Amino acid sequence: MAKESSAFQIDENKRKQMQAEQEQIRQRVKRIRHQILVLSGKGGVGKSTVAVNLAVSLALSGKSVGLLDIDIHGPSIPKILNLEEKAIQAIGDTILPVEVTKNLKVMSIGFLLRGKDDAVIWRGPLKYHMIKQFLKDVQWGNLDFLIVDSPPGTGDEPLSIVQLLENPDGAVVVTTPQEIALSDVRKSIVFCRNLKLPVLGVLENMSGFVCPKCGQRTDIFKSGGGEIMANEMHVPFLGRIPMDPQIVQSCDSGKPFVYYYNQSQ
Ligand code: ADP
Repeated sequence: MAKESSAFQIDENKRKQMQAEQEQIRQRVKRIRHQILVLSGKGGVGKSTVAVNLAVSLALSGKSVGLLDIDIHGPSIPKILNLEEKAIQAIGDTILPVEVTKNLKVMSIGFLLRGKDDAVIWRGPLKYHMIKQFLKDVQWGNLDFLIVDSPPGTGDEPLSIVQLLENPDGAVVVTTPQEIALSDVRKSIVFCRNLKLPVLGVLENMSGFVCPKCGQRTDIFKSGGGEIMANEMHVPFLGRIPMDPQIVQSCDSGKPFVYYYNQSQ
C-alpha cells in the first residue's frame, strides 16, 4: 500500500512539474506575436532555405524575429547563416540565442554539437525534451515572429512543437513540383489538419530553371504541380521560386539570398 501511494506521489509530482514547465513556456510564448512553422513532406526541397530567407526578410523589414531550428538530425540553419563557429551562452537556467543582428535571433541544436559532422541519435521523448527546452529556457524576449524550421515529414518534432506552442499561427509548406514530392506534402497538409494547425500556404520551390547563358527555361522537376495540389487540397498557394544557382551559392557561403541579392525578382 505504501509503495502504491509513493508511486502515486511520483506521478503527481511529475504532473505538477509538467504543468509548471508548460506555464513557463506560455509566459515566453506570450511575448511572441506570431509563430510560423516551415514544413515539408520531403528533405532537400529547400525548407531550411525558405525558413532562413523568410526570417531574414522579416528582420530586414524591421520586425523582431526568432529563428528556431528543430531539425535535430540535420540542422542546417547555422551553415546557411554562417554561424557554425558560434557557441551559445547559458545564464543561470536560461540560454541566450545567437544574435545575427539586433532583431534576428537564432537557436539550433547545431550550436550544441561539438563537431559539425556529429550526429544526434535520439528517440522521440528526448527530442520532445530538447524542443521543450528551446521554448522554455531560451531567452527569446519580445518577438514579432518566431519562424520554426521543422524536419521533413510528420514525426516527433513537428508534433512536439505544435503541442508545446499550443496555438501557433500556422504552417508554410514547401514542396518541389514533381509528383513524388507532392504526394508527401499532401500528408503534411493532412497532418496540419489533424492538429488543427492552419496551413498558411504552399510554396513551390525549384520550379523551373532559366539558363543564365541562353535564357531558355527548363522545368527540371516540372512546374505548376504545387499550385494544382494546393487547389485540390483547398489551401492557399503562395508562389513559385525558380532554381537559381545563386541560392545554392548563398546557402553554401552562409550569406542569406534575400540579403545579398535583394534586387532579385
Ligand atoms: P531542406 O531543408 O528541405 O532539406 P535545404 O533548404 O537544405 O532543403 O536545401 C537543399 C539544397 O537545395 C541546398 O543546397 C540549397 O542551397 C538548395 N536550394 C534550395 N532552394 C533552391 C533553389 N530555389 N534553387 C537552387 N537551389 C536551391
